[in-house]
Amino acid sequence: MRYSEMFLPTSRETPSDAEVISHRLMLRAGMIRKLTSGIYSYLPLGYRVIKKVEQIIREEMDRAGAQEVFLPAVQPAELWIESGRWQFYGKELLRLKDRHNREYCIGPTHEEVITDLVRNEIQTYRQLPINLYQIQTKFRDEIRPRFGIMRSREFGMKDAYSFDADDSGAELSYKKMFEAYNRIFSRCGLSFRPVEADSGSIGGSFSHEFLVTADSGEDGMVYCTSCDYAANLEKAEIARPEERHIDESEFLPLEEIYTPDVRTIEEVSAFLNVTTQDIVKTLIFSADDSPIAVLIRGDEEINEIKLKNYLGCDSLELATDDIVHEVTGAPKGFAGGIGIKSEIIADYSLINMRNFVMGANKQDYHIKNCNIGRDFKIKDFADLRIVEVTDLCPRCKSPIEFARGIEVGHVFKLGTKYSKAMKATFLDKDGKEKYMVMGCYGIGVGRTMAACIEQNNDEDGIIWPFSIAPYHVLITPVNIKNKELLSMAEKLYDNLEGRGIEVLLDDRDERAGVKFKDADLIGIPLRITMGPKKLAEGKVEVRFRKSGEVREILFDDVEDFVVQVVKREQ
Ligand code: ATP
Ligand code: MG
Repeated sequence: MRYSEMFLPTSRETPSDAEVISHRLMLRAGMIRKLTSGIYSYLPLGYRVIKKVEQIIREEMDRAGAQEVFLPAVQPAELWIESGRWQFYGKELLRLKDRHNREYCIGPTHEEVITDLVRNEIQTYRQLPINLYQIQTKFRDEIRPRFGIMRSREFGMKDAYSFDADDSGAELSYKKMFEAYNRIFSRCGLSFRPVEADSGSIGGSFSHEFLVTADSGEDGMVYCTSCDYAANLEKAEIARPEERHIDESEFLPLEEIYTPDVRTIEEVSAFLNVTTQDIVKTLIFSADDSPIAVLIRGDEEINEIKLKNYLGCDSLELATDDIVHEVTGAPKGFAGGIGIKSEIIADYSLINMRNFVMGANKQDYHIKNCNIGRDFKIKDFADLRIVEVTDLCPRCKSPIEFARGIEVGHVFKLGTKYSKAMKATFLDKDGKEKYMVMGCYGIGVGRTMAACIEQNNDEDGIIWPFSIAPYHVLITPVNIKNKELLSMAEKLYDNLEGRGIEVLLDDRDERAGVKFKDADLIGIPLRITMGPKKLAEGKVEVRFRKSGEVREILFDDVEDFVVQVVKREQ
C-alpha cells in the first residue's frame, strides 16, 4: 500500500477523553474513530489488525475441530423467553420491535440461537460431538462503556459452542478450546494467564478467563508463586484453616456490655479497646427472600459471589432494616449469633476464634467472650471472604501474588443449562433421550487488539508483534523528490510484495522527521530507511521498531533479509 493513497489520519494530539494508552494510541494512529458512545468505526489500519487477529483465531479454531458458521445478529424474543434470559438479562440487552410489534434483541451472545439450530438438526449421539463458532458483531448496552474498543457497546466476538453426549465428552471439548486459546493468545504476542473464574450458579470449576497482564486491566487476579494455580479475584479460594482442638476451659463467661450508639466494627473496637480481629461481624442477607446470618472476622470482607454460590440462590442482597429488626429484634449495628432467628453460616476465619465480641441482638449492647458451640450453633463453616495477599495458595500453601489483567477470552462449561431449558435432546446409544452437554467459548477480537497495544508500546507509539502487525515493513524514502531514490524504493516495494510481504511505502512528500514520527506511532515492526548518502554506498538502514536496533544492509540483500526476518518472526 502506498501511504499517500491510504486513509490513515494520524495525529500528534493526545485525545483528552481517552483514559488508557491503547485507546489514545488507536485514535492517534488513525485506527478507530468513535461514532457515538461505545460504538466505533475501524479505519483501514485498525481493520487490518482485526483481520489478522481473526485469522489466527480461525486457524486455531479449525485446527481444534470447530466449524465456522455465521448466525443472525437479530434474535427473536421467544428464544430468550424459552431460556429464561429475556427477564434476567436486564438492561444490557438491546431490545427492539418490528413493524408487527414482535419483539427482538440484538445478540449480546448466541447460546439461544445456536441451541435452537442444533436441537432442530441433531437427533442422535452419532452426530455428536459438534463445535460451531462464528466471528460476529455483538451488542451489549454496557452501563459504562470506556477505554475505547476495550469495553464498547458494539464489538466483535468469536463465540464457539460445543455440544457433547456426556460430561466426559464435554470436558474434552473444553480442554481442546482451552489449548486453542493458549495458542491463539501466544500467537498474538500476548503475555497472559488463564485463571479460574466464577462459573456462577452453574457450578463446577469449569470456567477460565484468559487475562492479559496489564495494570490498566479491570480484573484482579491471584496467582501462586510456586504452582500454576491462578484465579480471578472473585473466585480465588482460601484453604480451610487447620482446626485447633477446642478446650472449653479456655472459654470465659459471657459479658453483656452497654455500647450506646456504637455500631461499626471500628467504633466497637475503639469503645471496647479490642482489635478488629477480636470482633465478629454479623451480616444479615436476604437470599431469594429468606434471611440468613453470615459471620466473619471483623477485619475481613465478605465475597458476595462466594456466598451466593455457597447458598445456590438466584438473588442475594443485604437485608433491609426491617428484616434485620425482625431477625435480631434490634436495629442495624447490634446483630450477633446468640438468639438470632435465622440460620447462621460462618466464614473459615471464625474456626479458631475464641471469646470474641459480637452484637447482642439488643439495641445498644454487645457481648464479650462469645464462643461457637457453647453459646450458639452454626449451620456450617465456609470459604466466604475476599482473598488477601497474606493468604496462601489453596493448592500448595505457597505465597500468592496479586496482579491486574484484561479479560480477552472466556471458556465455560455450561452443562445442560440451555439444553434443558430449550429441550435440546438426542437419542443415546441405548435409545434413551438425553440432554446435550454444552460449553461456550468467547474471545473479544477488538479487546485482544487493544490488550496487545497495552502491552506493546513506548512513548513514541505502538510496537506491533509481527503476527498481527498491520504491515510487516514500512519503506521510507527520505525524499521523494529524488526520483532515483523513489524508483528504487518502489522497486523494493514491488519485489517484497511479490514475495508475500505486507509493505507500506511512505511515498508522501513530507519531511523525514514527520515520516519517522508517524512510523513510530503506527508501529510497523520493520522500517527500511532509504537516503541518498547511504544509497550511494549501495546501502539502506533497517530499523527494528521493538528493539530500536538499526542495521545497515546492502540494498541488494535487503529483500532476502526482510523475507527471512518476517518468516522467522511470524
Ligand atoms: P466483562 O466481564 O469484561 O464484561 P464478560 O464476562 O461479560 O466480560 P463474556 O460474556 O465472557 O464477557 O464475553 C466473551 C469475551 O467478549 C470477553 O472475554 C471479552 O474479551 C469480550 N467482551 C465482553 N464484553 C465486551 C465489551 N463490552 N467490549 C469489548 N469486548 C467485550
Ligand atoms: Mg460483561
